[in-house]
Order: sequence, then C-alpha cells, then structure tokens
Amino acid sequence: MILKLKKLLCYLGLHNYKTINIEYGFNPTDRVTTLECKNCGFTKIKSGG
Ligand SMILES: [Zn+2]
Repeated sequence: MILKLKKLLCYLGLHNYKTINIEYGFNPTDRVTTLECKNCGFTKIKSGG
C-alpha cells in the first residue's frame, strides 16, 4: 500500500527528493543542486538560490 502511494505521488510530480550533489559557481548564488527522488530515481537539476 505504501509503495502504491509513493508511486502515485511520483506520478503526480510530488517526488520525494534528496540532494545528491551541489555544485558551486563563481558566485554563491550560482549554485546547482542535483536532486534525486528516493522513490523512483527521477533526477532533477535545480539552479540558483
Ligand atoms: Zn519519484
């Protein structure tokens, strides 16, 4: 049941992200964060703040 719920949340775009990598640029605001979903493995790259 829990697994089904997690899959449903992912399907809706509500991934359970964890931070797997953070890269910094020249400015502190030039931060690129790589997020990975703990449930389905979907990765997302977030830049800025
Ligand atoms: Zn997911």
